[in-house]
Amino acid sequence: MNINSAIMHGASVLKKNFIKNSYLDSEILMAKAIHKDRKYIMLNNKINLNTKELNAFRKLIKIRSIGKPIAYLINKKFFWNSEFSVSDDTLIPRPDTELVVEKVLNLTSYKKKLNILEIGIGSGCILLSILKERKTFYGTGIDISKSCLNTSKLNAIKLKVSSKLKLYKSNVDKFNLGKYDLIISNPPYIKNFDLKYLEKDIVKFEPKQALDGGLDGLSVIRKVIKKSSELIKKKGKLVLEIGFDQKNKVISLLKKEGFYINSVNKDLANNDRCIVCTKI
Ligand code: GLN
Repeated sequence: MNINSAIMHGASVLKKNFIKNSYLDSEILMAKAIHKDRKYIMLNNKINLNTKELNAFRKLIKIRSIGKPIAYLINKKFFWNSEFSVSDDTLIPRPDTELVVEKVLNLTSYKKKLNILEIGIGSGCILLSILKERKTFYGTGIDISKSCLNTSKLNAIKLKVSSKLKLYKSNVDKFNLGKYDLIISNPPYIKNFDLKYLEKDIVKFEPKQALDGGLDGLSVIRKVIKKSSELIKKKGKLVLEIGFDQKNKVISLLKKEGFYINSVNKDLANNDRCIVCTKI
């Protein structure tokens, strides 16, 4: 079978299984199966596949058919300006989260030196994107998952910012190292009860501990705000990603811990998604 017919067949299998971008996904998985890029595939679609390649492709189509996100199948996702490695243990970087990067870059265009802490670094997409754009900044990332720390480390090396990054395996409560000019976090903020209503691809395949915000969705955000108020320098900034309906509750938590609210920013779908505030 040639590349083109295999892709067409793969796409029809995906479509039958209600996968939205069936043709594109089939093409991406073909590239993965034969270790080439999509450009090669488009230019050489009449080339015949050997049995090993065909089997590798069929296997990928089968896993995609049950909903496993494409990013986990190819182990990468593009975010901001770079391609990030992801593993089954990291949340897949979301376009909405680029808002956090954008806000931080806006805030820091005149700064020379800045010490940044990210609570729950995951794949590293937020902090590493910032470090890549701001060559003189330093970053510290913490996470409860050793596997996520390994992925961030790998991404830091790929983005050539590893010399400016320190990583610690720690729970937010237990971390007490250093003082920071800027703290960022995209903590788990989905209400435990609502997890089952997320898209199937998310519920079945993304790490619960990166999504589950406890009974009211705020249990980790609360800890992040409390810890940030201890570790942040006076006049330091905290930039937080939040759930679409959490604005008022989070603002009141922030005020209680001595933060002044600078702005609440909307994501691509016009939901409140990112809060910028200053420790006073
Ligand atoms: N925005 C993510 C989602 O909708 C949730 C991310 C998070 O809990 N931090 O799946």
